[in-house]
Amino acid sequence: MLELSTPVQYVKGIGPRLSEVLAAKGLNTVDDLLHYLPFRYEDRLNPRGVAELRPGEMATVIAEVRNSGLFRTRRMPLFQMVAGQGRAKLKCIWFNSAYLKDKFPPGQIVALYGKVEQDKRGELQIVQPQFEILGDVAEEGAAEVSEQKAAASLEIGRIVPIYEATGQGRLTSRWFRRTIRQALENLPANLLDPVPATIRQRLSLMGPREALWQVHWPEAGESLRDLQEARTPAHVRMIFEELFLLELGLELKRRQLKAETGVAFQLNEPARQAIKKILPFHPTFAQKRALKEIAADMEKPAPMRRLLQGDVGSGKTIVAFEAAIIAIENGYQVALMAPTEILAQQHYFSARRILENAGYRIVLLTGSLEEDRKREVRRHIRQGNAQLVIGTHALIEQKVEFDKLGLVIVDEQHRFGVLQRFKLMKKSGDSEPGKLPDQLAPEPDVLVMTATPIPRTLALTLYGDLDVSVLDELPPGRTPIVTRRVSDERSDEVWKFVRKQVEAGRQAYVVYPVIEENETTELKAALKMYKEMTSRIFPDLRIGLLHGKLEAGLKETVMRMFQKGELHILVSTTVIEVGVDVPNAAVMVVEHAERFGLAQLHQLRGRIGRGAAKSYCILMTGGKVSEDGERRLDAMVRTNDGFQLAELDLELRGPGEFFGTRQAGMPSFRVANLIRDRDLLELAKREAAAVLAGPNSEISQGEIDSAIRIMRTRWQKTYGLLEAG
Ligand code: ADP
Ligand code: MG
Repeated sequence: MLELSTPVQYVKGIGPRLSEVLAAKGLNTVDDLLHYLPFRYEDRLNPRGVAELRPGEMATVIAEVRNSGLFRTRRMPLFQMVAGQGRAKLKCIWFNSAYLKDKFPPGQIVALYGKVEQDKRGELQIVQPQFEILGDVAEEGAAEVSEQKAAASLEIGRIVPIYEATGQGRLTSRWFRRTIRQALENLPANLLDPVPATIRQRLSLMGPREALWQVHWPEAGESLRDLQEARTPAHVRMIFEELFLLELGLELKRRQLKAETGVAFQLNEPARQAIKKILPFHPTFAQKRALKEIAADMEKPAPMRRLLQGDVGSGKTIVAFEAAIIAIENGYQVALMAPTEILAQQHYFSARRILENAGYRIVLLTGSLEEDRKREVRRHIRQGNAQLVIGTHALIEQKVEFDKLGLVIVDEQHRFGVLQRFKLMKKSGDSEPGKLPDQLAPEPDVLVMTATPIPRTLALTLYGDLDVSVLDELPPGRTPIVTRRVSDERSDEVWKFVRKQVEAGRQAYVVYPVIEENETTELKAALKMYKEMTSRIFPDLRIGLLHGKLEAGLKETVMRMFQKGELHILVSTTVIEVGVDVPNAAVMVVEHAERFGLAQLHQLRGRIGRGAAKSYCILMTGGKVSEDGERRLDAMVRTNDGFQLAELDLELRGPGEFFGTRQAGMPSFRVANLIRDRDLLELAKREAAAVLAGPNSEISQGEIDSAIRIMRTRWQKTYGLLEAG
């Protein structure tokens, strides 16, 4: 008998050596092995007859080998095998595949899968088909014939699961099929189900054991399409379970946080007045709504954990400043953290412009300050003189001691990843030695701002432990940005256009993928193009250069000059990608735009279109553009909508990369797929919340405890560092 927690080593046919190969794939226990799902299924119950094949279709064929051989063409060796059924024949070819030479003895029965085509002579062929040798007695030795027959019945006459091979081909699809079958046959009759019985019944979910069987060994009548799309009842049950446990952990976190003590700020009259006074414009409806939601959170004694999500240019900063005023008017300090120095500086400038006039005391804390100055700033913070502290994330988080920190604002969250978010939330500057526990400061409120347009449904369900406010409206008076794509062979025209815009009083960004050239990539580089522009293209214009390797003081000067309009053109790398706000800049030229990710391009484009003037984004391509590159550029030209772009980005890159690596805190899934399974994610979130709201007539305390216990083990295992609750 095997338990789910049994190491794979003890499954028949694995042993210590192969278990190492499996461990490299992250498959350590029987449970892991059983969650190694087929990536596709073949209908070998009703395979297509060779005679009925039509060019253009994907097909599974079971046929007999007639002959095979290795050919040399002028360009590469080519292996050809002809399989047949009666008089119908099908040619299969593989490139560079000398190793196939002895695989196909005549008479051997094989399963083939691939796209059927017509060759030049009109005969049917499949190029590079996936194949499987069926019932190959010679390979196993005569003694095992009867077992062999049983195994063969796993290969034909049914819907057959196809697994991704691994271990340099040592662990084939066929191997997985047998081994997983072994494991399934030796499972105990009852498996513990983390999904409470009432939920299971209400949603008509099958039990865990049945689901495992059917996801690997579907019954004959199962829809092949549902199987491929992971929509069979067995798939749905397994996906639901995984997402349910994720959401249960997130919901638990949220509940625990709500029970902690924070500051109950008052939205008092001075705060209201101050907010009115500082506003340089009429807030949009969305901004008003967001502030209302934030203020409502701040008034509650539980610490706020809110995500303010708004596309680039939607006006998050002013909302953050308003929240800061509430905290300051209540006698608390506020920390505003930005991911880069440039951004911290920019926030500092606007805070001074907007808040300092109203009498608030603001300090900037960045790495490039002189040591003396840093010490002095820290003293101001410690003694409570500084009311708003603006700095880079790293700096504030590490060493700063606050007198009375009430609100932490984190800008452009997507740069930090989710893990860091948890770390930050634990911090409150109160673990100083010498302080007694009852003197611990209350947990500060946290407002996280992000321009990453995480598709709404995902944000709401995935950030189960954050409340979300969305700025879904741009401030008025913006003219839509015109986006064009041109080849860099037409750069002369582009520069002419830039010149015209500058003459009309606008400023322009020109962005490059790299700082310096490099022989292998042959990309145009910021440094070289800066020289080109100052000497040849725009010798009469004032041009600045900005990149990550510049010394911090210089960066600041350049940025400030551009902000003040003292530079016409800013040549830059992606350091300006996030948050920089210069309303008079109306042109964004991106060279080698094909090299940038969609989110990045959208961020870059978000630097313009911030004023009343019509803005232009010119995406120049240089060199070959990949298929995905084409789709990215296409999408950029087609739409300005960050949410639409995010959806496409998610699709192109997959959730893993979209959210950053696992280290960045994005859970990795065994069976779920965030794009495909969005509806199940929402369902799981609702059900998880309902469970924790119990016990009640639906759910017993015992069930809740059991679900939480399983969730903890799962979180520990899957998300490693992230401990739940
Ligand atoms: P983001 O959400 O990208 O951080 P910002 O807060 O930098 O956007 O705002 C973008 C620009 O829009 C700034 O120049 C800001 O002053 C301006 N802005 C913000 N809200 C409004 C508003 N309600 N009316 C007019 N301009 C606004
Ligand atoms: Mg911003």
